[in-house]
Amino acid sequence: MTVNGKEPMVHAVCVPFAAQGHITPMLQLAKFLNSKGIYITFVNTQHNHHCMLSSNGPDSLKGTSSFRFETFPDGLPPSNANGFRDVFPLLLSLRVNCPQPFMELLYRINDPSTGSPPITLIISDIHMPFARDVARMFGDCPLVLFYPPSPCSFLAYAHLDNLLDKDILPFKGPDFMSDGSLNKKPENLAPSMKGIQLKDFPSFIRSTDKDHPLFKYMRDLVERAYGVPLIFNTFKALDQEILNDISNLLVSSPIYTIGPLHCLANNLAQDNTELGSLGCNLWKEDIKTLEWLDSKEPNSVLYVSFGTTLFMTNEQLIEFSWGLANSKYPFLWIIRPDMVIGGGSSIIPPEFLDEVKDRGMLSSWCAQEKVLNHPSVKVYLSHSGWNSTLESISSGVPLICWPSYADQPINCWYSCEKLGVGLEMEGITRRDVEEIITEAMDSKKGKEIKKRTMEWKSLVKEAISLRGSSTLECDRFMNYLLSLKDQNNISN
Ligand code: UDP
Repeated sequence: MTVNGKEPMVHAVCVPFAAQGHITPMLQLAKFLNSKGIYITFVNTQHNHHCMLSSNGPDSLKGTSSFRFETFPDGLPPSNANGFRDVFPLLLSLRVNCPQPFMELLYRINDPSTGSPPITLIISDIHMPFARDVARMFGDCPLVLFYPPSPCSFLAYAHLDNLLDKDILPFKGPDFMSDGSLNKKPENLAPSMKGIQLKDFPSFIRSTDKDHPLFKYMRDLVERAYGVPLIFNTFKALDQEILNDISNLLVSSPIYTIGPLHCLANNLAQDNTELGSLGCNLWKEDIKTLEWLDSKEPNSVLYVSFGTTLFMTNEQLIEFSWGLANSKYPFLWIIRPDMVIGGGSSIIPPEFLDEVKDRGMLSSWCAQEKVLNHPSVKVYLSHSGWNSTLESISSGVPLICWPSYADQPINCWYSCEKLGVGLEMEGITRRDVEEIITEAMDSKKGKEIKKRTMEWKSLVKEAISLRGSSTLECDRFMNYLLSLKDQNNISN
């Protein structure tokens, strides 16, 4: 078997965490590595594999001669849900039920009769709790961890014990969400976190129980990174101070800043090539969204999407809808079929649909990168997922941030306070929504965030250019992979 006509030097098994926001950047990393001559086995959970086939067609995961897809069970009961597994049962199941099937899969892939080269290393999402142990048991297979969310969220997790030691956490009393506790600014954190409030930390700190399982989860996640090469999806200029602080904490872990991955992957593997066309969407893309954008004036449309795991109540949906309608701007709004708790887009008031019929489009899933690069799109109202943040910055589209949980609050803080590319939407009454949209689309502040975003966009271009920081980091990573070539002594 060859990659780009040459003997592959390395066979990497890539295992993303089983959620879209983790699968997509891992796939981009894998495609990028494959374009550099690395043989790839990309491993999805069986549940997600089936969702992808049903969204994208039965041939969509056939792979190429040097890029194969494999699966293992996630240990949860079968379900008909369209792609979404509840995150917390999934995390538990991955820890308890998956080490064995994953190990068996590695032995199966490593069998010479499969026709693939011997496994050289495992690249695992850091959120896969079993990867480190399985790699050790699998003949001490080299392991690289990939952290797809924002570097600032990793740094925040690494501060958990600091906050517990100072008795800032856990929160005191049942009203901590509303009694001002979240506005506290902890002192003596890493320099790059200066000015941060507790409300900006990842939502997992929001507990009054010092033994909350999520505290353990965050601690374990950081500990897994000690002494292991770690990849972040970012570029040096974007996260320099944060990365310095992380390096000071993880002195024994080589850190590679390889990003934005979607830009690197696009550079090397265009859509119309065999490699470029490989995709892992859990939902089916609606191409009408792009046609609709074609019919709109340049720089006129508000794009709205809350990512893949955020849920809204029906009340929030209705308030949001009317805020959007009252702002009077053209908009494209992505509403996943499972996004509204207890319902779907069918709950959207018919009067709203009537009001916006000439200027709004609703869809359940789009090609977001293409949407953000469309000349008609002016602002992105987002949940502040890290992939979405990177995609928006790389396209020069400023953000309105409405974070909900996990790393979203700290991404919002980073976007608005540190990078200057966003405005935070603090409430979700129709008035809040209308006001923030108007501010971002048409005000001095809106112009300022647009200007900053365009500056970051050119820094992205620089980072992925021939001598750019991310290109050099990729070279450094490839040198590391080359050094593994001769260490391959994993037996069957
Ligand atoms: N996405 C997409 N089409 C959509 C909505 C989202 O392709 O209609 C993609 C988006 O481009 C991003 C990912 O889904 O790559 C969401 O990841 P992110 O980290 O922003 O948020 P998460 O959903 O993981 O919280």
